[in-house]
Amino acid sequence: MTKKVIIIYGPPGSGKGTQAELLVRKYGFFHFDTGRFIENVVHSPEAKKDPMVRKQQINFDTGKLCEPWWVLKIVKEKTTRLANSNWSLVFSGSPRTMFEVTGDKKQIGLIDHLSKLYGRKNIVVLWLKIRESTTMKRNSRRRLCKVCGLPILANAKTKHCAFCGGGMRKRTLDKPEVIKVRLNEYKNRTYPILSYMKKMGYKVQGINGEFLPYKVFEKVQKAIGLE
Ligand SMILES: [Zn+2]
Repeated sequence: MTKKVIIIYGPPGSGKGTQAELLVRKYGFFHFDTGRFIENVVHSPEAKKDPMVRKQQINFDTGKLCEPWWVLKIVKEKTTRLANSNWSLVFSGSPRTMFEVTGDKKQIGLIDHLSKLYGRKNIVVLWLKIRESTTMKRNSRRRLCKVCGLPILANAKTKHCAFCGGGMRKRTLDKPEVIKVRLNEYKNRTYPILSYMKKMGYKVQGINGEFLPYKVFEKVQKAIGLE
């Protein structure tokens, strides 16, 4: 398989994380979770010796955003190492900001960086589309296992995690009023990125995300030429 980079966007509840995990399990992609990566970097013992990382750790731990130029720099360094080790990458919901996508006068953006590593034609942007009512419905049913964090779609029959048997908890992020805010943030942040990617000639493909994950995955595989 030619090495690829798949970038999946979609509103809360569209299943972008699930589709990314399916690419990991079926084709051995590396799921680049930017949030988790930053968390690991700021909390790694050796990185704490670096004053810049310490500064970013304080931002991170007090709930502020890490500085965008720094995030872009470390994400590029990490993706270079992954490309050199022949990984195909899947991103879900990131790059999150226009700055991460395009960079500025001082450093190139992530998209140009990935184009150099993987070739422009091997970068595919997928846009999972669901109705607003589906976002609301799915997120109101969303639970996580208290013990292992596995996502669980709650219904009358499921009371326990299928993996470890632990109980369920609801995330504050999934309260209806919070979901409305997240949905608006998503639109304001993502729509300009999608138009920019289209304008720059990248393949941006919309996919209907209303179906069960395995059905959506058939479309995903087709869209990126894996079948
Ligand atoms: Zn569990």
